[in-house]
Amino acid sequence: ALHTDKKPDWIRVKLPRDPVFWSTKALISDLKLHTVCEEAQCPNRWECWSQGTATFMIAGDRCTRACGFCAVKTAKPFALEADEPQRVAQAVKRMKLNHIVITAVARDDVADGGAEHFARTIEAVREVQPTITIEILVPDFNEKDDALRTVMLAKPHIFNHNLETVERLTPLVRSRAKYHRSLHVLKRAKEMAEELGNKVATKSGLMLGLGETEPELFQAMDDLLDHGVTVLTLGQYLRPSPQHLPVVSYVHPDTFENYKQIALNKGFRHVASAPLVRSSYHAADFKPELDL
Ligand code: SF4
Ligand code: SF4
Repeated sequence: ALHTDKKPDWIRVKLPRDPVFWSTKALISDLKLHTVCEEAQCPNRWECWSQGTATFMIAGDRCTRACGFCAVKTAKPFALEADEPQRVAQAVKRMKLNHIVITAVARDDVADGGAEHFARTIEAVREVQPTITIEILVPDFNEKDDALRTVMLAKPHIFNHNLETVERLTPLVRSRAKYHRSLHVLKRAKEMAEELGNKVATKSGLMLGLGETEPELFQAMDDLLDHGVTVLTLGQYLRPSPQHLPVVSYVHPDTFENYKQIALNKGFRHVASAPLVRSSYHAADFKPELDL
């Protein structure tokens, strides 16, 4: 495909030869876990895995949705695995993690969207590592309040739900998900944590290069702030295959840096903005800024 030949220099990924990469890989396959690093073909795999971090993808590797940007396969999912929370906890122990990002496919086939499974995973992880900070990157649970409550009762520290793109492009880019629904979910998560007497930081991210304009991007930032979001990630969209949405533009690293300053000036507490930034990239770095 033409687009892959035209990737700018700053997209090239370095491949470090670090033995930790292989031990991370072996551990994940040994525990039969899925990671979004692999399933979404993340360009940072070498870096993150070499540092002994990964983002776990629970509830299977088959998604009920088919977003135009996403490499995760769409298929009828298998039943949830009751021992998966324990296996994630084992990984935490063996990888000696002090921060974990847990994500999942959208399970529109089960009534609670996988909320209970998320909660059980959070609890299992906390049991083996009580001081760990837990970040969840969740689907929208079809905006079901009770599903969201199930998750918030398990007290995640960081609630991450991606807006993915600006309002106008949402129907093109995301399957079933809606812009205002995602904003609502972010707001509700924060409200619920407060109702339950917990603190949570809410976080969201957008991919750039899908055809959004700057005013649209700045509007999305304002909308996120209006809904209580304090952590923002911005990264370049990369097309996983010719069957996925084309890249409309490659945003220059200096422009990403400029967006970071704009977002901070608007009021975000932490912003990661660079071509290869992903939702879970260096996720542990900003903990001190969040006062959790
Ligand atoms: Fe990918 Fe969309 Fe499924 Fe999330 S909901 S795993 S982005 S297809
Ligand atoms: Fe995995 Fe996130 Fe790192 Fe990508 S940025 S390799 S998804 S931990």
